[in-house]
Amino acid sequence: MALLSRVGKTLRRMLSRPASADLTRYEALLPRIGEVEPELEKLSDAELTERAAKIREAGELDDDLLVEVCALGREAARRALGERAFDVQLVGTMALLTGHVVQMATGEGKTLSGALAAAGYALAGKRVHVISVNDYLARRDAEWMRPVYDLLGVSVGWVEPALTREARRDAYHREVCYGAVSEIGFDVLRDRLVTSVGELTQPEPEVAVVDEADSVLVDEARVPLVMAGSVDAGVADEEVAKIVRRLRLGLHYETDADGRNAWLTTTGASVVEKALGGIDLYGDTGADRLAAVNAALHAHALLTRDVDYLVRDGKVHLINASRGRVAELQRWPDGLQAAVEAKEQLPPSDHGEILDSITVQALIARYPQVAGMTGTAVAVAEQLREFYELEVAVIPPNTPTIREDLPHRVYTTPTRKLRAIVEEIRTVHETGRPILVGTQDVAESEELAEKLRKAGLSCVVLNARNDAEEAAVIAQAGAHGAITVSTQMAGRGTDIKLGGADGADAERVAELGGLHVIGTARYPSSRLDDQLRGRAGRQGDPGSSVFFASLGDELVLAHAPDVPEGIPSDEDTGEITDAAAHRQINHAQRVAEGVDLEIHRNTWRYTRLIERQRAELLRYRDEVLRTETATTLLRETESGRCYELEDSLGEESLRRVCREIVLFHLDQLWADHLAFLTEVRETIHLRALAKETPLDEFHRTAVPAFRRIKDELAKRSAKTLLEAEITGEDADLAGAGVKRPTSTWTYLVQDNPFGSDAEQALKKVRSMLRKKRS
Ligand code: ADP
Ligand code: MG
Repeated sequence: MALLSRVGKTLRRMLSRPASADLTRYEALLPRIGEVEPELEKLSDAELTERAAKIREAGELDDDLLVEVCALGREAARRALGERAFDVQLVGTMALLTGHVVQMATGEGKTLSGALAAAGYALAGKRVHVISVNDYLARRDAEWMRPVYDLLGVSVGWVEPALTREARRDAYHREVCYGAVSEIGFDVLRDRLVTSVGELTQPEPEVAVVDEADSVLVDEARVPLVMAGSVDAGVADEEVAKIVRRLRLGLHYETDADGRNAWLTTTGASVVEKALGGIDLYGDTGADRLAAVNAALHAHALLTRDVDYLVRDGKVHLINASRGRVAELQRWPDGLQAAVEAKEQLPPSDHGEILDSITVQALIARYPQVAGMTGTAVAVAEQLREFYELEVAVIPPNTPTIREDLPHRVYTTPTRKLRAIVEEIRTVHETGRPILVGTQDVAESEELAEKLRKAGLSCVVLNARNDAEEAAVIAQAGAHGAITVSTQMAGRGTDIKLGGADGADAERVAELGGLHVIGTARYPSSRLDDQLRGRAGRQGDPGSSVFFASLGDELVLAHAPDVPEGIPSDEDTGEITDAAAHRQINHAQRVAEGVDLEIHRNTWRYTRLIERQRAELLRYRDEVLRTETATTLLRETESGRCYELEDSLGEESLRRVCREIVLFHLDQLWADHLAFLTEVRETIHLRALAKETPLDEFHRTAVPAFRRIKDELAKRSAKTLLEAEITGEDADLAGAGVKRPTSTWTYLVQDNPFGSDAEQALKKVRSMLRKKRS
């Protein structure tokens, strides 16, 4: 019996794995950390640094070392910042040092917890990257924490776009280096093109401590970072854009409810085919045109100006969907980018050959050790486990949260909802409490601001500004009487202190009830709701939050449109209190979360193969860079030519020449391979032939194509070696066609707008369910 119940217990534990790692091990160490404190307080700064240096001799981070790192870290923070790390912050540090994603609420001091963990890793002999969501935060946190690192004798630096190659190399060779995920990724790509070891900026990746871990590891995971090199300007298909502009929804094309796909109807297809001179779009020769038409249709039907992108200074600026503001450096995949430019009748922007690209997820996968911190990790615990093998540790707040989360308020239509929101803002504003309003997108922010202005309420609207300016505005959002309207707050990393940035008025604002947060609609994930909510009630402050929703909200229309009929509502206000409506909205959010996870999964299935190939190729490239592989390879096929060259140029030069030739072709072959894979993947979707498993089909094509690279490499390199003429001291490689790109640039690609087969499958299931229900 006892055994049975024990088995039962184990089974239950296995089936419902806890959302949080057990913290008892770390909590048990807190008294020991406390015991050392008086002793450390007596040390001079120099003695403190010396004591930290002792950790370096020990190496492995066992419990004793965790205690030592935390005790020294607490003392260093007290001296350097005047902030003695709280127990919960040290528990966070220990969980980070053991490779968890820690969940600590907004304002609990993750910056310090993360810095002490980074210092701990560094003292244990590991190089650490602290990865932030933007350049501003990377620099801010590095500068803010530097005095703490100094006392612990750990070197720290940061990277940002303006830095020279030398400055970057210097920063990356510090023990701890802060950087935005994009910047670190771009450097990985740039390092990918060097032809001598001395040019590399980054040493081997060791530890990543990721701030706003859910934003980076989940929301942005699919985003590819791209490096392109100049070839020639892209051509937007104006003719196709003109044709598509005349098409009508319902007659010529259809879109699905969640706005991720658009397709031509039979009528639409024949109109387009005729307009293009009677071609067959779906025939073998039509693939190019079909891709262009598809891109133009997506641009026309699915991408909305001021929601998905802005047009400013004659350029298309993407709006980052998960953060609701201009996504600097981002663009869509080339075809779609050009199509949107054509739609807006703008000149085509530069577009070159993609030399290499890496997704954020693959970038993080390079680190043998990853840890992270965020206010909302539990909601993505499953993804973190599945995609990164990371466990979540929930750290309790230092002071209990007393924020009041008010019941959601649901309305019949968006118009009535908006009216109620303005009323809510007016009422709360009259009390003097600061209000933070989170909207879904830039257009909605502007609409609301306009309504507020008309109602005589002045507000600050946050969107599309630069990060530093934005941080300054957010810091003021807790001031008496402030109304701040902002798109999503996830990943913003700025603390909202009651009473404004200097906290001068803190007491008065706290007495009034603190910050009131209003969500104008439920976000596509409950995690984003929590991120917004978490802005109120930081560090035990008073505060409150309320979310508004309507049955006509995009989330509901897209994911749960079949609202049960006859739900009663208030005649005057349109408010619905019936539980069925609330259930419907929660359901819509869960469906949205599921769709997102499925897309993530599917993208990863494709990129995983590409990443494996990329890793294998890079290992080979590194070998070429560091050893005599290239010379050996060419001696095998062109030994005669090699002797000749060695005779006239010397051994050293022969090696360099061989290396440059092989690297040139290797990089070229990889770029071609990537382009090929992109095409394969896109046509698999576009043609949607009777292939039952597009992923298998993709593998069947991609694997042999990759195998051919090495043969081709040897052939092409040998040919170049033969063709290169000797001119005086050197071989004329440029004359033999070895031309590296003269300029390269980097950018992020936003999402895969063409949908995926997983989505298609989900959609089918959904529409079947819908039909069944109705
Ligand atoms: P988070 O990233 O968790 O939202 P931050 O790291 O931005 O929080 O810190 C929020 C605020 O709390 C900052 O103003 C910081 O100075 C303060 N803070 C952090 N740790 C402590 C501490 N141990 N004692 C006092 N203030 C602290
Ligand atoms: Mg933070």
